[in-house]
Amino acid sequence: MTLALDGGTPVRTEGWPAWPPPATAEQRRLLLEVLDDGRWGATAGTKVDAFADAFAASVGARHGVCVVNGTVALFLALRALGVGRGDEVIVPAYTFVGSATAVVLTGARPVIADVTPDTLHLDPAAVDRLAGPRTRAVMPVHLAGAPADADALGEVARAHGLAVVEDAAQAHGAAWRDRPAGTLGTAACFSFQSSKAMTAGEGGIVVTDDRAVYERTWSLHNVGRRREGGWYEHPEVGWNLRMTEFQAAVLLPQLGTLDGQITVRERAAAFLAAELAAVEGLDLLPGQEGTTRHSRHLGLLRYDAGAFGGRPKADLIAAMAAEGVPIDAGYRSLSRERALRPHTGAASCPVAEAAEDSVVWLRQNLLMADDGALADIVTAAAKVRRAFRAG
Ligand SMILES: *Cc1c(COP(=O)(O)O)cnc(C)c1O
Repeated sequence: MTLALDGGTPVRTEGWPAWPPPATAEQRRLLLEVLDDGRWGATAGTKVDAFADAFAASVGARHGVCVVNGTVALFLALRALGVGRGDEVIVPAYTFVGSATAVVLTGARPVIADVTPDTLHLDPAAVDRLAGPRTRAVMPVHLAGAPADADALGEVARAHGLAVVEDAAQAHGAAWRDRPAGTLGTAACFSFQSSKAMTAGEGGIVVTDDRAVYERTWSLHNVGRRREGGWYEHPEVGWNLRMTEFQAAVLLPQLGTLDGQITVRERAAAFLAAELAAVEGLDLLPGQEGTTRHSRHLGLLRYDAGAFGGRPKADLIAAMAAEGVPIDAGYRSLSRERALRPHTGAASCPVAEAAEDSVVWLRQNLLMADDGALADIVTAAAKVRRAFRAG
């Protein structure tokens, strides 16, 4: 069969489910409520506080502070822990650049550590090697909705006296040994940016059980105010990093739909894991042992060029796109981000760098498609493989 790229018929011409999903009646109602009552800002309305409490409760954390985005959430959590100039924070190499730039915002130095080959999570052994006298915190990233190994990372963190700040931007609803992502460290940060599993277009939250970290985060995101203080009392330097009531209105109903959406994606992941077994050289990365809920924010696929006629990953992506299956190239290793170099110095991360050539992503909207559409992913992959091998 001729590849669509070479003029053949594409496997799929229909589209994919939209992300974000169509607005619900409840989202419209709450959004209009905010619009009409004129209390648009977090300090005037009640929805941001209600959402902060409800989200924190949904992950089993005591406190939540809603902020403008996930990067700023990470920045605030680190600042609240006292991280600043002269300090170091260890971050994984295979993650969104925001994990590292949040550290730069605090004035501290991000130390880029390699990831483990099977999970692409921060490697506890690398953390152990890189932790030094200036290291204050470690930032596990729950990549794609799979929690990082909280036990192993918690143990190295304890041994070196480091705080653990979870980057849970991709892990709404995920769990590690039945403990929700968001409760696996000192503080955790989620994002509500457009691509995430819960979204208001933009937004983020810091959750924590630690009262002092909560109060500090709250103050820093609200121009240095104290909860009980006056409007123009600013006992410390902070910024306006507050979420709006509009965002909270859009987010609140999603607490009721997240779980069902994860179940849909889990089913899709199980289907693809089984069906892709027939396509040698393209495999869904499994969650590691200990994962009790993989929220499948993304489907990470490992591509073995050797099984596809030696063709590079970019060729796979182009051929699949022409067949009607959009897949994503994913991250470059942070060790190769030149803009970070002046802040991080050189870092050698062979595993994350190899992932640049061998890992591709299925976005969550593909994982919410019906069985026929999922079967198209497999059919397209098999077709591309045959054509690549035939030369
Ligand atoms: C999205 C994301 C962030 C940043 O969140 P924003 O809301 O876009 O600032 C940080 N870390 C990871 C792993 C992410 O996926």
